[in-house]
Amino acid sequence: METPYERFALSAWRGEFRDPAEERAYRKHVEPAAARHLRTSVTVWASLLLLFGSLDFLALGLSSGFVQLMAARGISAALLLLLAWRLKYNPHWATSGYAVTILEIVGFTLFFLIYFVRPDIIIWNIGVTLILLLCLYIFIPNRVVLSNVAAGFGIVGTLVCVRLTGADAAKIISLFILLCLPTTVGMIAALRLQMVQRRQFALHTEMVEINASLQEEIERREALEVELQKQATTDPLTGLFNRRQYELLFNRERERSRRLGTELSLCVLDLDHFKQINDLHGHDVGDQVLRHVAALFGQTLRQTDIIGRFGGEEFILLLPETSLEQSERLIDRLRQRLEGAPLETDEQTIRITATFGLTAVQDEDKTIEDIVKRADRALYLGKQSGRNRVVTADHGDQ
Ligand code: GH3
Ligand code: MG
Ligand code: MG
Repeated sequence: METPYERFALSAWRGEFRDPAEERAYRKHVEPAAARHLRTSVTVWASLLLLFGSLDFLALGLSSGFVQLMAARGISAALLLLLAWRLKYNPHWATSGYAVTILEIVGFTLFFLIYFVRPDIIIWNIGVTLILLLCLYIFIPNRVVLSNVAAGFGIVGTLVCVRLTGADAAKIISLFILLCLPTTVGMIAALRLQMVQRRQFALHTEMVEINASLQEEIERREALEVELQKQATTDPLTGLFNRRQYELLFNRERERSRRLGTELSLCVLDLDHFKQINDLHGHDVGDQVLRHVAALFGQTLRQTDIIGRFGGEEFILLLPETSLEQSERLIDRLRQRLEGAPLETDEQTIRITATFGLTAVQDEDKTIEDIVKRADRALYLGKQSGRNRVVTADHGDQ
């Protein structure tokens, strides 16, 4: 696997990421800020160009030389302002660097005109060129490679112009060394800046990615916790509460009924001849029957009733705020509904009935087991007397 060091490796000469994908991501990230900075830079540059026209006027008056220089300044400034305007709509021009590099080259070309119109200020011109070369790297946001191209053009052009105005080879060599000075300083400063900015971007990217993977891990664990909670409290086949959870809910409901002085009924039920269903149709169909029964109970009983699977084909129902008489009617309706809702499989219709043992929760009952035992005895009686019926435990039957 690629290490972060390899992934974010920088080219020492270009000051850019070696990996083109990372370089693209970086440029996209800095694009709005780079476009803003470049717009400011080229606007200041255009203003200075026009402002310096006043010095030409002071020196040349309204001569043809002044007009030529002003025309050159005007063209340069217009192109720069055009770029500033277009950058609003094409911010990626700021990070690709080609547009501003072309303008730098055009700017230098027009600047060279001054050598011929005003040969009296060659020294001044060279001084300005030194500053321009430095600004090229430090003031105007651009890629270092492209700034090198513009600076190279500026240096060669200046040497040619000075040579054409009559300077000897020794002067040209000295001038070359002089021009290389701000270029080298500017290039090193720009390279450092570009590399620092990219290292910051690499750290930022890593942080964002770590955060995203942490978030993912948190979500995964939360989902796992929900799943574990579900597994710990429900029966996987029917989705009903399992015995452990049921006892917990029973205790809570009993506490509530004691506090409010309401009645509470409990019913255990066992499917009739379920073994036969398994034997005749197979275990899978047996499972389908269990799911079918669980769904039917869920649809028929109230939201407040608590339904659990106590293992095998035995279920338990807790009916809060319901007297024994009310429960009897309610459970008998459930029994009829079950009888009238056979399971339709592809091949056959499986009739399902169940026997129900019902009891009221009494103050004397110590644990859920006492109550379940009483309801179980009623259920057993129901089985003995022919099944598919609701039997209520007698009062005082402990
Ligand atoms: P009765 O009317 O007397 O209750 O008869 P029965 O056949 O239902 O009685 P019994 O309790 O002997 O049979 C219960 C059967 O339920 C036996 C067992 O194979 C089956 N069983 C228990 N748990 C499951 C289950 O999760 N899936 C399926 N398909 N069958 C189960
Ligand atoms: Mg059974
Ligand atoms: Mg049974």
